[in-house]
Amino acid sequence: SSASSPVDRDRLRALHAEEESRFVADRPRSAALAAEAADALLAGVPMPWMTRWPGAFPVFFETASGARFTDVDGREYVDLCLGDTGAMTGHALPAVTEAITERASTGITTMLPSTDAAWVAEELRRRFGLARWQMAMSATDANRFVLRFARHLTGRPKVAVMDWCYHGTVDETLAVLDGDKVVPRPGALGPQVDVALTTRVVPFNDLAALEAALAHGDVACLLMEPALTNIGIVLPEEGYLDEVRRLTREAGTLLVIDETHTLCAGPGGATRAWGLVPDILVVGKPIGGGVPAAAYGVSQEVADRLGPQMLSHDIDVAGVGGTLTGNALALAAVRRTLSVALREEDFAVAIPLAQRWADGVARGIAEHGLPWHVQRLGARAEYWFCPPPRDGAAAAAAVDEELEAFMHLWALNRGILLTPFHNMALFSPHHTEADVDLHTEVFGDAVAALLGR
Ligand code: PMP
Repeated sequence: SSASSPVDRDRLRALHAEEESRFVADRPRSAALAAEAADALLAGVPMPWMTRWPGAFPVFFETASGARFTDVDGREYVDLCLGDTGAMTGHALPAVTEAITERASTGITTMLPSTDAAWVAEELRRRFGLARWQMAMSATDANRFVLRFARHLTGRPKVAVMDWCYHGTVDETLAVLDGDKVVPRPGALGPQVDVALTTRVVPFNDLAALEAALAHGDVACLLMEPALTNIGIVLPEEGYLDEVRRLTREAGTLLVIDETHTLCAGPGGATRAWGLVPDILVVGKPIGGGVPAAAYGVSQEVADRLGPQMLSHDIDVAGVGGTLTGNALALAAVRRTLSVALREEDFAVAIPLAQRWADGVARGIAEHGLPWHVQRLGARAEYWFCPPPRDGAAAAAAVDEELEAFMHLWALNRGILLTPFHNMALFSPHHTEADVDLHTEVFGDAVAALLGR
């Protein structure tokens, strides 16, 4: 935790205790459901990360619509988490509900392609520019599949990732640097093999380190986000991504861009917004409007290299795909979602809201003379208790869990849900300026309380 923060720790703990009591007192129904869930659910939750929310127990939600949700105690919240991007379109879009309702009543899963398949692939091609597409259930799945394709095509054993990246629960990517050693990410559960054997890790924005990592000649692909978004937003420096493309091409290493979060930059992600030319692209989370679905696209050159192998039985049951993958419900959901959401006109509303949010937070920071910063990437923005980090390790070193937990709980008690694990807000076209201004006020009040002003 950060020593550079001017926040008095005793005051912080006292305020936090007050917010904890308030959290519990306001939510008797959630408390009762949490007590009930504690019995048969491991750790009392359906998914491990759900223990990480602020407050003594998770808030149980009842309904979500557009940019808001209501909990089981009848409290309404402005949702700035949006399912950590899974609901970036806004919740429960009526057009998507209609499509999935219709598809659910006419058959969900047959292992046969449905009538939406070609439309979806053409739309993904139009948006991102890659020539050929297939589906996955989640971005994690898609990343696992493309790592296999990359190793298969190049005959090379290793993959390269950015230090402090996140690409889902993909074994090879749960690795960080410790000095110049590759070690498991802190907390990585039961690593399958030593990550030093599978993975080369390089700091973001460090071209010399990338060049050195690729020089071994054993890296099948570089898997990266065009801006880090999972250890705070770390933006690429001027010219960095062009050089990444040049170095990977020269080394015969495939460049895989994971747009699962950076889709917040526009309808075709950062790839379209910044003119990137990946060999393979992965996108997941919001493309099904909340229904699990993801996709990966490959360049024509990669498709040609795979050639007839994709039609042979060799690729069958070979570590890619899955029984429910590309099911008719997912394809119907993706088709309707991409028809009515995540379009230019949607970003034209969401991005200025993110800018307004960042401006409000920046004013609060400046007013109190704090050494914090706020950063924006498209419809996503985030504040951090340090100056802008240049790479993931610098960002990780500045994590202040105690302060973060307080800021989240304070906001939650005042009707705002932030994205867990960092201080992030994501905007949909369904948010309003009033939602943003509520956060500005709540943020300013939290800081004033912390500083005793
Ligand atoms: N890629 C990126 C960039 C992500 O941020 C995440 C999840 N945070 C994933 C992949 C994995 O997505 P999922 O958990 O839906 O598989």
